[in-house]
Amino acid sequence: MLELLLPQRCLVCAIGGAPLCATCRARLPPLTPPLCGRCGAPTAWPVARCRECAGRRLAFASARAALRYDEQVRRLVRAWKEQGQRGLAEDAAAIVAERLAWPDAGLVTFVPPDPGRRLTRGYHPAQRLAQALARRWQLPCEPRLERSGGSHRQRGLSLAERRRNVRGAFRAEAVHGTIVLVDDVYTSGATADAAASALRAAGARRVEVVTFARAIRGSQ
Ligand SMILES: [Zn+2]
Ligand SMILES: [Zn+2]
Repeated sequence: MLELLLPQRCLVCAIGGAPLCATCRARLPPLTPPLCGRCGAPTAWPVARCRECAGRRLAFASARAALRYDEQVRRLVRAWKEQGQRGLAEDAAAIVAERLAWPDAGLVTFVPPDPGRRLTRGYHPAQRLAQALARRWQLPCEPRLERSGGSHRQRGLSLAERRRNVRGAFRAEAVHGTIVLVDDVYTSGATADAAASALRAAGARRVEVVTFARAIRGSQ
């Protein structure tokens, strides 16, 4: 309700009008090939596995993102989480759908919210993004994952700690076929991997991770 009454401002540059103005939208940094075919990291040439994911057992088949998670995108995502901007899910879905090929999957699901994070008016960006994407891709979107207890905040942890921290963090309901797993940001890949692992254990043949943005190692 409050959201409707407040004047809408661009979350990046604060100009009045929309949560993401056309100028800032056009300036968002795309994640462009060549990329690692598995984890989606930018690489010097196209590779099946890269330095970031080689030797890691990953439960997902691919991880794709529309944007590089730079300072501007970080600000946008933070505001999206903290202010529960509803209009932004559509913008984010449009950007993802423009940049990524239509997935050959049967279901879209999403990484559930961390229980330690209080949702702004029940607004969970990953879920809204998943729903908006599923509409565009004409696929069903259903919750299939839940956290298996405790808080698993990843912030401030090292890469090894992040992986340990989320192992076994998710439980999934029975699924089958290829699943698109949506989250707002791919950071270390530990959360995506743990969630994909639960989906695979619950029957998914293949899990494709799709995120709005992806952190780039060494440029954060
Ligand atoms: Zn702007
Ligand atoms: Zn990789």
